[in-house]
Amino acid sequence: MTLAEIAEVTGGRVVGADPGARVTGPVEFDSRKLVPGGLFVAFAGEKVDGHEFAPAAVAAGAAGVLGTRETAAPGVVVADQLVALARLARVVVDRLDALTVVGLTGSSGKTTTKDFIGQLLARLGPTVAPPGSLNNELGHPYTVLKAGPDTRFLVLEMGARGVGHIRHLAQIALPRIGVVLNIGAAHIGEFGSVEGTAEAKGELVEALPADGVAVLNADDPLVAAMAGRTRARIVRFGEAEQADVRAVGVTLDARGRASYTLVADGRKAPVRLAVTGLHQVSNTLAAAAVALTAGMPLDQVAAVLGEVGIASVRRMDVFDRPDGVTVIDDSYNANPSSTEAALRALAALGAGRRTVAVLGYMAELGEYERSGHEQVGRLAAELGVDRLIAVAEAAPILAGAATVGSWTGQGLHAADQAAAIAELDLRPGDVVLVKGSRYRTWEVADSLRPEGV
Ligand code: ATP
Ligand code: MG
Repeated sequence: MTLAEIAEVTGGRVVGADPGARVTGPVEFDSRKLVPGGLFVAFAGEKVDGHEFAPAAVAAGAAGVLGTRETAAPGVVVADQLVALARLARVVVDRLDALTVVGLTGSSGKTTTKDFIGQLLARLGPTVAPPGSLNNELGHPYTVLKAGPDTRFLVLEMGARGVGHIRHLAQIALPRIGVVLNIGAAHIGEFGSVEGTAEAKGELVEALPADGVAVLNADDPLVAAMAGRTRARIVRFGEAEQADVRAVGVTLDARGRASYTLVADGRKAPVRLAVTGLHQVSNTLAAAAVALTAGMPLDQVAAVLGEVGIASVRRMDVFDRPDGVTVIDDSYNANPSSTEAALRALAALGAGRRTVAVLGYMAELGEYERSGHEQVGRLAAELGVDRLIAVAEAAPILAGAATVGSWTGQGLHAADQAAAIAELDLRPGDVVLVKGSRYRTWEVADSLRPEGV
């Protein structure tokens, strides 16, 4: 696109540049990431004003700068960067005829499953599915604008922070394949309004066109019920008998990695996962359903699933240290259901070994804040975690653990992450899980990483 076209699409104006100058690369918000021909989008943050980096971006090869005020560099001035990005993304998607857009949402596992889908579809053709959790009104158009004329598949993680949010993202780039992974915390108790969450996440399948495909979790009643909210064809995944893409005979090895028989269209193939946790069965089935829908043969789907990994950091990252300690770094984020999945993985890996769980505060639980932490603590005790360290505001976890009379493990409260690190007291052979909402246990996880890992 030329700067003039960008100005037209965004309702902005070209400043200090040749309107015919052409943008040939993706957009970036960080001038250091720019590739020549890209468009630098300047935001005025609280601490740093991106507009100040405009000259550096152009020096690094940017074709122009998009911002809300004129800078020393040439570009386009718009009223609102987010609105401008959304409009640009929409025009770009409309122009890419060969593109299939895959959208996915759910309470847990979006980024993980997006990585799996990306690795599968890359075998079929050029695929855009960047690592990380780019699921909001900023990350979404940013990802869309990574697609180019050669891109065949664009995989978009779609987060919902409220009703109408996913509908908005779907207008920017309408998925043809829409995946809903799960809703809320099915196993560990009732957290938040799961119906409200289902209402918001179901907007994805409502947006799908009649020739689209809704990929729904047959094992999650609130997701399965979304079949009634779409015009699209439905493909169900899960362990349930009515699933179209099904896992049969699931087993877990001593490293917490699942194996199963993948069954679809009356055919079957063995799958042996390299990623950790029972919940990866559901995530990989969702990814398989997408790949099968996109035309990949079942045998190839099964083979590639055996190789997929998680490109995004701090998610079920299992590594052995030279001192014989096994670390599960799942510290990216936490809610009760993802913590349940992680604790079960710890229990599987920790069979016959001493297990340590460092758990931080789980944010955004609203009225279920206390009960959510307590239930996680109860589960940790039921699973027989040997050493349970609750960091800072996560203290109610210990109260929950204390309700399990048969628990012989030790519970400790650490005032902050430094205190948690000091309390770790690891021995060779231990398995340690680190998990909490966002940055709340990152220091602990980083302290466990040997140099260079
Ligand atoms: P966010 O809303 O923060 O973007 P997300 O949906 O993208 O989260 P991931 O980042 O993939 O989710 O995973 C977050 C955590 O959820 C991981 O640490 C993992 O342990 C857990 N998790 C992943 N998949 C599932 C699942 N299917 N069920 C329960 N927990 C899961
Ligand atoms: Mg995510």
